[in-house]
Amino acid sequence: MMESAYETTNHFLKCGFKAVSIDPVYKRLLQTPSRELRVEMTIRLDDGRPGHFIGYRVQHDNSRGPFKGGLRYHPDVNIDEVRSLASLMTWKTALIDVPFGGAKGGVQVDPKTLSITELERLTRRFVDQVSPLIGPSEDIPAPDMNTNAQVMSWFFDQYSRMHGYTPGIVTGKPIKLHGSFGRTAATGRGCMLAARETLAADGKSLKGSSIVIQGFGNVGSWLGKLAADQGAKIVAVSDMKGGIFCGDGFDMPALIAHRDETGGLADFPGSEKVTNRELLAIKCNVLAPAALGHVITESVAKELRADYLLEGANGPCTIAGDRVLEERNIQAIPDIWANAGGVTVSYLEWVQNTQQIQWDEEDVDKFLEKKMVRAHQALRQTMAREKTTMRRAAFILAIQRVKEATDMRGFA
Ligand code: NAD
Repeated sequence: MMESAYETTNHFLKCGFKAVSIDPVYKRLLQTPSRELRVEMTIRLDDGRPGHFIGYRVQHDNSRGPFKGGLRYHPDVNIDEVRSLASLMTWKTALIDVPFGGAKGGVQVDPKTLSITELERLTRRFVDQVSPLIGPSEDIPAPDMNTNAQVMSWFFDQYSRMHGYTPGIVTGKPIKLHGSFGRTAATGRGCMLAARETLAADGKSLKGSSIVIQGFGNVGSWLGKLAADQGAKIVAVSDMKGGIFCGDGFDMPALIAHRDETGGLADFPGSEKVTNRELLAIKCNVLAPAALGHVITESVAKELRADYLLEGANGPCTIAGDRVLEERNIQAIPDIWANAGGVTVSYLEWVQNTQQIQWDEEDVDKFLEKKMVRAHQALRQTMAREKTTMRRAAFILAIQRVKEATDMRGFA
C-alpha cells in the first residue's frame, strides 16, 4: 500500500532532521500543522438546488513570516493532502528565502462540473468561511491546481467587502487588479531555471536537451515554452485526457495556441498519441511531472528513462519511488526548489500591494533568477558538506532556517 502524501512529506523531513541538531519536541512541532480549518460551503446552484462542498485551510508554520500557500480545487482534495502541501510550503519559502511561512487550502470539487457563476459563489463562500484566519499579514492564499487569476479576483473582492480594500490578501491576481508582471509564468520560469542550473553544474545545457512534461496547465506549459526558448526540445506533453509525442520537439507557441483553441492536446498536427503511463517512460534528458502528486511510484521509477526528474508538481515522488531514483542515479530536482518560482513572485506581488508600487517584468524576472541561482548555490554547498542528495540538502537548509527563526523568536 502506498503511503499518504503527508507521510511522504514527513519522511523527507525526517531525513533532513538527521543532519540538524534539533529538540525532539520541536521535531514533532515541525511535522504537524500549527492550525487546521475545515469548512462547509452551501451555495445555490444555477438550477435552484443547494450545492454542498467541503474545504480546508491548513496553516503549517509561520516562524519566518505570514502563512502562505495556494488554493486547490480538485475532487480528490482531502485533509491529508492539504497538510502535506502546507508543510511543503514552509520548506519552500525557507529554502528560496522569502519572508513567509507555509499554508495550503483546498476545496473538494471538480470545477468543470460548475458554471462560472457557481464557481464564483463557491469561492466567495469559501472566503467567508476562512476569513477569520487569513489576512495580508496573517495568511495569504494564491492559485494552485484549477484556480487562476479570476478565482483570486473574486477572493480579493469578497475579502475586501468585509475588511476594506485589501489587494495584499491574495497573490496571483490579474495584472489589471494589482497582480504582478511575471507571476503567471513564474513557476514555470523557476522550473526552467532549476533545470538550467542543475544541468550546468553537470557540464550540460538546456540547449539540445530533450524534455517530457506531464501536465500542460500553468506550470507545465510555461516550463515548456521557456525551456524551448533556451533551445530545449519538448518531445512529449500530456494533460488529464492523455499525451502526445513528437521526436523532433514541439513548436511550443503553436501547441499552446492549439490547447487554448481546442481545450486539449489531441490532434495536434505532427504528433503521435501516448498514454500518461507511456509518457513517463519516454527516453529523455529531463522528465517534469507538472500535474498531480505521487505519480512517481516504485514501479514507474523503475521504468523511467530520464537523467533528471524536475519536480514541477508538488510531491510527485512516493518514498519508494524516490529510493529507486537514488539507486538508479536519476537526479531528483526537488519540488521545494524547482517550483518555488511561484511563491517568489507572489512575494513580490504582496510587497507591491502593501507598498502600492509596481515593478516591470524585467525587474521581477531578474529577482526570480537571482533567488533561484542563490538557492542552487546554497544547495550545492550543503550537498557537498553533507555528502547527500539535492532533496535531502533542500530539507536540511530549510529546517535550519526555520529553526533559527523559531529560536530567535523564542517559545515563552
Ligand atoms: P493547472 O490546473 O493549471 O494544470 C494542471 C494540469 O495537469 C492540466 O493540464 C491538467 O489537465 C493536468 N492533469 C490533471 N490530472 C492529470 C493526470 N492524471 N495526468 C496528466 N495530467 C493531468 O495547475 P498548475 O497550477 O499548473 O499546477 C500543477 C502542479 O504544480 C500542482 O502539483 C501544483 O501544486 C504545482 N504548483 C503550482 C504552482 C502555481 O503557481 N500554479 C506553484 C507551485 C507548484
